[in-house]
Amino acid sequence: MCHISLKRSMSILNNTTDSNLVAVAVSLGSNLPYLNRSPREIVLAAMESLRLISIEADSSSVYRSEPVDCPGGTGDFINAAMVLRLPSKTSANEFLAVLQGIEADYGRQRSAEQNQARTLDIDIISFGNQELESSRLILPHPRAMQRKFVLMPLAEIHPEMVLPGQSENIAQLLSLLPRTENVHLSA
Ligand code: ADP
Ligand code: MG
Repeated sequence: MCHISLKRSMSILNNTTDSNLVAVAVSLGSNLPYLNRSPREIVLAAMESLRLISIEADSSSVYRSEPVDCPGGTGDFINAAMVLRLPSKTSANEFLAVLQGIEADYGRQRSAEQNQARTLDIDIISFGNQELESSRLILPHPRAMQRKFVLMPLAEIHPEMVLPGQSENIAQLLSLLPRTENVHLSA
């Protein structure tokens, strides 16, 4: 985890936006290679791209997780999470378009099928304190709280973070999940 000052760290934990920055939690996943890059290499490269466009960024380790609710034959996923600080003038919809551009750079094809294998998926878990539901974007991410592969990497970097609308923090939400889902640090 990168070094950040106590004041800034506190404001991330409270999910607050100070006058110039907004704290944004993202989740990354890949279970298909693209060109000569493995899922792990794709996730690491996408994390580097996100660091470059952020004022500050905290990055989790890389995790490996067994697919959940996926079509048969889907391979293990590589997952990671980041908490970014972006200029607060950035809108959540603009940022979603940036993430979809990075997904496209790594060969992401979209199909109607849910949870299909993918070269790269980047979801916005929370964007400051925003709570919204449009056809393009739901904040905070509606399924994040049930997903160990989202909460475990986030708990590594910001266990005290509270998602908008929740009373429990990330570490507490993680402890409430059934232990069946298999997520572990990737070597
Ligand atoms: P999924 O991530 O659910 O497997 P996709 O990446 O194909 O599926 O996303 C499907 C749609 O979900 C996207 O077109 C996007 O507009 C929408 N979406 C809604 N809320 C979010 C969010 N918080 N983060 C990312 N995408 C979102
Ligand atoms: Mg997605």
